[in-house]
Amino acid sequence: MNSKSLEERYDRILRDMEGSLTARDRVGIQDFVLLDNYTSESAFLDNLRKRFHENLIYTYIGTLLVSVNPYKELGIYTKKQMDLYMGVNFFELPPHIFALADNVYRTMLSETNNHFILISGESGAGKTEACKKVLQFYAVSCPSTRVLDDVRDRLLLSNPVLEAFGNAKTLKNDNSSRFGKYMDIQFDHKGGAVGGHILSYLLEKSRVVHQNHGERNFHIFYQLVEGGEDDLLRWLGLERNCQKYSCLVRGECAKVSSINDKSDWKTVQKAFTVIDFSERDVEHLLAIIASVLHLGNVQFEKSVRGYATLNSSPEVHWLSKLLGIPPQILQQGLTHRKIEAKSEEVLSPFTKEHAKYARDALAKAIYGRTFNWLVGKINESLVNKDSTRKTVIGLIDIYGFEVFQVNSFEQFCINYCNEKLQQLFIQLTLKSEQEEYETEGIEWEPVPYFNNKIICDLVEEKHRCIISVLDEECLRPGEATDLTFLEKLEETLSGHPHLITHKLADQKTRKTLDRGDFRLIHYAGEVTYSVSGFLDKNNDLLYRNIKEVMRQSQNNIIKHCFPASEPDSKRRPETVATQFKTSLAGLAEILMSKEPWYVRCVKPNDGKQPGRFDDVIVRHQVKYLGLMEHLRVRRAGFAYRRRYEVFLQRYKPLCPDTWPNWKGTAAQGVETLVKHLGYKREEYKMGRTKIFIRHPKTLFATEDAFDLC
Ligand code: ADP
Ligand code: MG
Repeated sequence: MNSKSLEERYDRILRDMEGSLTARDRVGIQDFVLLDNYTSESAFLDNLRKRFHENLIYTYIGTLLVSVNPYKELGIYTKKQMDLYMGVNFFELPPHIFALADNVYRTMLSETNNHFILISGESGAGKTEACKKVLQFYAVSCPSTRVLDDVRDRLLLSNPVLEAFGNAKTLKNDNSSRFGKYMDIQFDHKGGAVGGHILSYLLEKSRVVHQNHGERNFHIFYQLVEGGEDDLLRWLGLERNCQKYSCLVRGECAKVSSINDKSDWKTVQKAFTVIDFSERDVEHLLAIIASVLHLGNVQFEKSVRGYATLNSSPEVHWLSKLLGIPPQILQQGLTHRKIEAKSEEVLSPFTKEHAKYARDALAKAIYGRTFNWLVGKINESLVNKDSTRKTVIGLIDIYGFEVFQVNSFEQFCINYCNEKLQQLFIQLTLKSEQEEYETEGIEWEPVPYFNNKIICDLVEEKHRCIISVLDEECLRPGEATDLTFLEKLEETLSGHPHLITHKLADQKTRKTLDRGDFRLIHYAGEVTYSVSGFLDKNNDLLYRNIKEVMRQSQNNIIKHCFPASEPDSKRRPETVATQFKTSLAGLAEILMSKEPWYVRCVKPNDGKQPGRFDDVIVRHQVKYLGLMEHLRVRRAGFAYRRRYEVFLQRYKPLCPDTWPNWKGTAAQGVETLVKHLGYKREEYKMGRTKIFIRHPKTLFATEDAFDLC
């Protein structure tokens, strides 16, 4: 081993880093760890702003990537850029999502273990785009064969389909994800992408029947109406005019300049064929989408006795045709419910209001279940046919924290989910990092941070939490109302520092709250929720007889979605919130078994505008995303750590004293090794079982030396 060449390499790396420092006035610093005034939030913000105005949207905090949404095309995601970033260490090129993707990939291959990339940030901050860039990078950089290319295309094209059905325009984002997504990409030992699997979380299906002002229904509806061929629309009984469909115009913005429904429709159509949808599948799927549009237009009349009636309208005709259900059965199902009276089943007619409610419940159920079918179908096409051992990289792109003028059950679930992910981030970074120093006996000045576990507990802890109170109220049909739920909350959880209601508030705060509101102090800020609709949405009831009606459908997807074996309403199905809680716990478990990487997305302004960096808005995000704390832990800490045995095993050829066999303990071997390599005293520390290395550059140099010998 030539130690001269190692020294030269150290020098080169240090020079490179300094070189990047001299440019700092113009472009800022590319890794916050190198910031002189690293405890100052203003210095942090200055650096981020400086870079943003130079179109440098990415900055590291060690291996964590901060990304600021530029709201414009930057031309930095080309094939040329991808090639540039392949196989390059973090410090050698400007920060980039490709650098992160590449490092995750290479670590996975060299260590043969599983990883995940958690992409977080509030709605519109750029999570979904980041996720797509990672996927595109792997699509280009991974080994290619005919079979692998097939998998690659499917992975890529699953996106436009899922976005068409699961994304919508909201006030925050024209392409807002209304479901949570965890996607595994599976790699063989040579690094080829051989398969994938998607888990989806709680689709916001209430959007099917209701949109707030300035928002739209899911993209697919508009794509079909705007882009569908004439023949197709005729076959579906649709007109090429979104204004005709009441569930497309609730938000009064069916047309949006930034969205091209027609060309998106073409992409989705192409994607269907690549991901193995047969013509029949597509036909049945579109028949369902059209059915939801027709169903939304169904109007009820009031009979002389005050009940809902439904005359043979064109809507019923089309519903019957598209779903393959006789019109009389449909008509009856939409206007009656079955009730049990003295061990006998009788049909009880709906009032008009009740019928509308049941109609909407059906539309939501059809759409929600079809979405799940779609995810299942995509998963079938992504199944890895080869059973050899594989490693995975998981991508998490979940709806971001959101606050609207009026926030309902949906925002409650979405924000709860963000709390959980923040908790995971804290556990995996700040907390575990500091605990490790402690157990390893490394001297350490603890960094204080806000632990949001208290808010997670408030929402989900057993027996005494918001979800348990809500579920209890859902068990008292007829008696409980949204307001009794609120009262129970006040009773059970009064005094909790993160929950405020009209009754629990002090005088000043009380003025800002309605009687039907509760406010949660989330890690990311305060959100006031209106309880209206909480019970209904949590129950998500669908009457038994309408399920029976659906079971008679000749549409294959509907048949699949309403199986005969579905547990009957006699046993209470789990509530929406409880199901969500369980699925989030499952997600946390999946993630805990993998190596974490983070992308923290920041939104520069509230107006979706390019070139505008709003200090107040960014500062707030820097705060709640915990970026300052993360930086302090990174800065005070050690970028890299390895068990003595593993470290010695890998690098022992670099030192004649440790090669080929070291006789003493692994710790002594490592000490001998790093002394020989010329590690400076302040650069590393010896823990109980591991060596801790302060700067990644030290390790890069060692790796380089290793490659040389
Ligand atoms: P989120 O998923 O966090 O809600 P998105 O990823 O959908 O946000 O981003 C919202 C919008 O911001 C995108 O539709 C796009 O117009 C813009 N955007 C996000 N990231 C980038 C980027 N890296 N480059 C250019 N535009 C971006
Ligand atoms: Mg998104």
